[in-house]
Amino acid sequence: MRFIILGGGESGVGSAILAQQKGSDVFLSDSGTLTDEHRKTLQEYNIEFEEGTHDKVKEIIEQVPLEGDLGGYEIIKSPGIPSTIPLIQKAIAKEIPIISEIEFAGRYTDAKMICITGSNGKTTVTSLIYHILKSAGLNVSLGGNIGKSFARQVAEENFDYYVLELSSFQLDGVYDFKADIAVLLNITPDHLDRYDYNMQNYVDAKMRIIRNQKINDAFIYWIDDPIVTKEIKKLKPEVTLYPFGEIKHNNSVAYTDNGKLYIQTKEHTFDMELELLALEGMHNLYNSLASGIVAKLLDINDENLRQALSDFKGVPHRLEKVAAVRGVQYINDSKATNVNSCWYALQSMPGKTVLILGGTDKGNDYTEIEDLVLSKARALIFLGKDNSRLHSFFNGKIDTIRDASSMQEAVNFAYQLAEKGDTVLLSPCCASFDLFKNYEDRGDRFKECVRRL
Ligand code: ADP
Repeated sequence: MRFIILGGGESGVGSAILAQQKGSDVFLSDSGTLTDEHRKTLQEYNIEFEEGTHDKVKEIIEQVPLEGDLGGYEIIKSPGIPSTIPLIQKAIAKEIPIISEIEFAGRYTDAKMICITGSNGKTTVTSLIYHILKSAGLNVSLGGNIGKSFARQVAEENFDYYVLELSSFQLDGVYDFKADIAVLLNITPDHLDRYDYNMQNYVDAKMRIIRNQKINDAFIYWIDDPIVTKEIKKLKPEVTLYPFGEIKHNNSVAYTDNGKLYIQTKEHTFDMELELLALEGMHNLYNSLASGIVAKLLDINDENLRQALSDFKGVPHRLEKVAAVRGVQYINDSKATNVNSCWYALQSMPGKTVLILGGTDKGNDYTEIEDLVLSKARALIFLGKDNSRLHSFFNGKIDTIRDASSMQEAVNFAYQLAEKGDTVLLSPCCASFDLFKNYEDRGDRFKECVRRL
């Protein structure tokens, strides 16, 4: 086989290493600049590559005949590259298979695959499941959107279980890959710019997580998600379903009742006081329920599961408590890059909240958080280069609104406006690229500014 790898980030470099190890020809191309570390790795492994251009790859694709023999080529595309770019369009026209790192690496491992997707909560649940399995002594690793490349781990390590965080973009490129246990947390509008602004296209991408799953596999999903339940009715998958939700429905496998969390499958029962859960907030209850089902399906004993659900440290930038200053709690939820995740953050706030939001708006509809903002927000601070969409939605609805063009300014405003007992919440609903490198940079800046107060 011959592989063209598009994108020289973590997943591309990992795929290149695995492809080369399996004796294939590999060429990697990145139109941007590689990190020093990735460039060095490719050189060390003697993998051919180009950066700052796709010229050579264009030539290769040009040469591939239109019909018949494709020259044994396959393209492994980084999830960050949209299918609309001319290079990919050309490859599609020539019927060159385009797959994701997950599809590719999945061919070379027999490890059990636990795969997590959803619009929100993927990283939290992936990390929590990993924490539970690792604490119970399983030979487990994590990958996908998180940590070290899955493909590179398949090449260089030997794990029995992988917990993989899968974005819709990674799922777009899976065909024969199968999750032994799939978790679909929720589907709400996100990344529509990559799906022709057609919600069903995005839904279809997410539902690819159940592809190839059979009766002995597990599909864990949130029973109160209208989109997911509708899709299941429509697709009638063969896989065994494990729904969870706050309240018990007929066929729920995990739910809460009277201050306790319950898991009841055919083979397992488990219960635990809700108070003991490490993660707070309604959304995190869902995350604990989903993770608990995975744990029981993998026969983690009750004591280990209880311990791990109660000592999980959480993931930075997701409802992360930063500090209490003069009776005001500051919370960093910088990862809330869409409106739905901000809704959950606001909903879990104990009282009046000064909300810092804004950034690169992906076409947000703020109606979803309107009621919560009206009932909980003491003030809104818009942090972004262009706050016009926020103004046109919230002006006249909330008395106190400030514009900030830096984190320092935003935190200073918050400090002035918050009253004792309030919470200052950074939960931006938007991407961070207008003022920051990424959401981590935004959250780190927030924490720095708060710690200096
Ligand atoms: P993802 O990896 O899917 O982006 P994260 O775990 O990084 O998800 O969380 C992203 C944001 O969504 C955070 O603001 C977090 O507080 C919120 N969140 C976490 N879990 C859920 C959930 N189950 N439903 C809705 N929002 C959630």
